[in-house]
Amino acid sequence: MKYTQPELPYPEDGLAPAISTETVKFHYGKHEKAYIDNLNRLIAGTEFEDCDLEEVILRAEGALFNNASQAWNHIFYFFTFSPAGGGEPDGDLRIAIDRDFGSFENFKKAFVDAGVGLFGSGWVWLSRDENGHLFITQGRNAENPLRDGLTPLLVFDVWEHAYYLDYQNRRKDALDALWDIVDWDIVESRF
Ligand code: MN
Repeated sequence: MKYTQPELPYPEDGLAPAISTETVKFHYGKHEKAYIDNLNRLIAGTEFEDCDLEEVILRAEGALFNNASQAWNHIFYFFTFSPAGGGEPDGDLRIAIDRDFGSFENFKKAFVDAGVGLFGSGWVWLSRDENGHLFITQGRNAENPLRDGLTPLLVFDVWEHAYYLDYQNRRKDALDALWDIVDWDIVESRF
């Protein structure tokens, strides 16, 4: 199976100013494309060749894991956003956020703090366990909560390539801006 890069469901300038047109072009168009190209190159001739991407993430190691997980993580990240995003979650997800973090504001602060506090490159994740409890976790490099048996709901990319063109060293500003484009209907659909 050859993995392909899905086309984004919004125009390249659709996430500005939170994420600029230039960053979408480089981050999705170049960085994410490279992970998918590397994945296809590395997986050829291995036992994983006909596996779903999630299966590769669960079982592969080394460079194959890194590129498979990065390929998946970026699709998960970019397909969380919408030009009409922002606002607040509701329904069962909102009930769980209020229960596990005290309030939506507390959740947002804890999530951004975890992203700012991750040393080096990686991801900050909101996931649920099999009982519907919510967890914020830091993932270094390509780490993915699927490997811990969790169901990912939301991720912010804290690799410098995700924000350096727009925000330089201001990672917190970059993460805070993403709340304006999160499509909570999509996050709720994963819950
Ligand atoms: Mn990235």
